[in-house]
Amino acid sequence: MSALVDTYETLPFTVIHGDGMYVYDTDGREYLDLYGGHAVALLGHSPPSVAQAIAEQAKSLLFYSNVAPLDVRDRAARMLTGFAGAPYDKVFFCNSGAEANENALRLAVEKLGRSKIAALRGAFHGRTLLAAAATDQAKRAESLNPWSGPVLRLVPNCTEEIRQIDTDTAAVIVEPILSMAGVITLDHTYLEALVVRCREVGAWLIFDEVQTGMGRTGVPFVAGSRGVFPQMVTLAKGIAAGVPMGALLMTGEVAEQVKMGDMGSTFGGGPLACAAMCATVETLEAQDLATNAARIESWVKRHCHVKGVEAVLGRGALLGLRLSLPAKEVHDALMERGIITGKSRDPHVLRLLPPLITREQHVIALAKALGEVLHA
Ligand code: PLP
Repeated sequence: MSALVDTYETLPFTVIHGDGMYVYDTDGREYLDLYGGHAVALLGHSPPSVAQAIAEQAKSLLFYSNVAPLDVRDRAARMLTGFAGAPYDKVFFCNSGAEANENALRLAVEKLGRSKIAALRGAFHGRTLLAAAATDQAKRAESLNPWSGPVLRLVPNCTEEIRQIDTDTAAVIVEPILSMAGVITLDHTYLEALVVRCREVGAWLIFDEVQTGMGRTGVPFVAGSRGVFPQMVTLAKGIAAGVPMGALLMTGEVAEQVKMGDMGSTFGGGPLACAAMCATVETLEAQDLATNAARIESWVKRHCHVKGVEAVLGRGALLGLRLSLPAKEVHDALMERGIITGKSRDPHVLRLLPPLITREQHVIALAKALGEVLHA
């Protein structure tokens, strides 16, 4: 019996090795990973550039906390803010998506002196207190009630409801594509309306780009693309291609409010994660992988429109296939054929979160397997 707490639904095999688009089990069986190690393997499994950067950093300095200025941390901050572009010229490093969201929400509540936060129906933001409060999970919200303030729950893409965001609201947090909810893309006009309303009432808008960030939707971040500028952007998952890291990007306007000691994290911005992140951004830029993410979407739209696939949702390499059959059945049948995909809270949406190095041949392999499964 395993000594691990039994809280995860797991793959039906043990992974012993990963290489690029593939992972291998104890029998040496190969699986095409279109779930990308839970959206973390941004550059595929064990990318050589990141593995080498980690090895070199580990030999030179494995760890020192933020009390020690480190060149590698400064470089990581410059690279990430450079990748994001203006006005995101400051970053706070932490270790996970939940921690990034927790800090963003807490900062808004503390600095604006307001208690209400607004979040979307179907949202997932993590499992710490404020992030869990923003997450749409009725059962957990009830038990957290004594510990969290009021949460305004808005329907995604419903512009009329935006007026409910008022001067008591500290922060509005949204995933530009609600992944877990079933890959619901927020319209550009909706995002623009959120920016305008938050400015009107003085609330801070947070884009949770834990999944959409780092080039996955075809642009570096949704924040800053097509003129939409939230005050804060939270990141994790693939930011360091597999080494745990979270980040909170903010505008100078927000950063000015942060005082000594307001935020902190022992492991946040550790040298190993920073070295991995620098190598990740270098590789993303050198290989123009954001552009490849956009290609992945077009390949999926071209090849996967087989009978039984009713729609392709999402953008870039964050996609959902709306299926006529239950997604679980298709997910399990694809797994038997050596292809890993993901499920969502929508029972008919199968999620694809592949590495940004995905090629057309991988999508064709998926389409072929989908055809077999859906027409069996
Ligand atoms: N936000 C989003 C959109 C996520 O998908 C996740 C994790 O799946 C989180 C936040 C929480 O991230 P973590 O598990 O690193 O705390």
